[in-house]
Amino acid sequence: MTDRVVVITGGSRGIGRATAIAAAARGFRVCVGYASNETAARHVVAAIEGRNGKAIAVKCDVGSESDILAMFKAADAFGTLGALVNNAGIVGTTSRVDEMSAERIQRMMAVNVTGSILCAREAVKRMSTRHGGKGGVIVNLSSVAAKLGSPNTYVDYAASKGAIDSFTVGLGHEVAGEGIRVAAIRPGLIDTEIHASGGEPDRAHRLANAVPMKRVGTADEIASAIVWLMSDEASYVTSAILDVSGGR
Ligand code: NAP
Repeated sequence: MTDRVVVITGGSRGIGRATAIAAAARGFRVCVGYASNETAARHVVAAIEGRNGKAIAVKCDVGSESDILAMFKAADAFGTLGALVNNAGIVGTTSRVDEMSAERIQRMMAVNVTGSILCAREAVKRMSTRHGGKGGVIVNLSSVAAKLGSPNTYVDYAASKGAIDSFTVGLGHEVAGEGIRVAAIRPGLIDTEIHASGGEPDRAHRLANAVPMKRVGTADEIASAIVWLMSDEASYVTSAILDVSGGR
């Protein structure tokens, strides 16, 4: 896989940033997708280049098909695709279902579900041996919310991650004979800015005591699992979903 390109959606911050740096350290050329924070994306590229890695930053709102097509075009110019990390994801503010607008739910599904499926479509077109590709790996970011359902918080988010679990199993089977492995990670409570974007910066720490390991996880701990799934050490792993959640 060395010298192959990995596309990481939402690679500018949090879990995506940690994954970008870890993947570059393992020899991947990293396409760092970002939605709007160009400065953060450029910092990730600089951090990778400062360690003699190769990276580019590409603006891509995964809620937009044209952005996705443009990002994969930029990745093609950077090298041969070997992996996709469907990491970009959003939460909503704490709400009950009977308070949610259609716009909120549609945006949640557009970014977390449709965006991931469209990115996977573009990756399969490039990596599948059926299309003349050399194979590769797709890692999707689910969440333990898919199992817990997130009542009174964001069941729309939980449902979007449930869709990612089903998609991982199905796509994995679909392309298993074409050189592509597909897996998902279900992170638990991870210390990133996603909780602030949901209106509660301290959410992970507030709930830490309910985690069997009694602590939040770090973005690096998720990135380690992702780059393992991307590696040949995971060569017999497909359609698999791995909880990285301290037991939550
Ligand atoms: P984060 O810290 O909020 O970072 C989000 C990243 O995604 C940023 O790089 C952001 O780009 C990008 N992004 C946001 N909306 C996007 C869009 N529409 N299109 C493309 N990129 C977009 O998030 P995180 O905590 O690292 O979460 C990463 C993934 O892990 C998500 O799928 C999340 O659901 C999942 N997860 C996280 C946790 C947790 O506790 N943190 C738990 C379970 C699952 P900009 O920098 O440009 O804004």
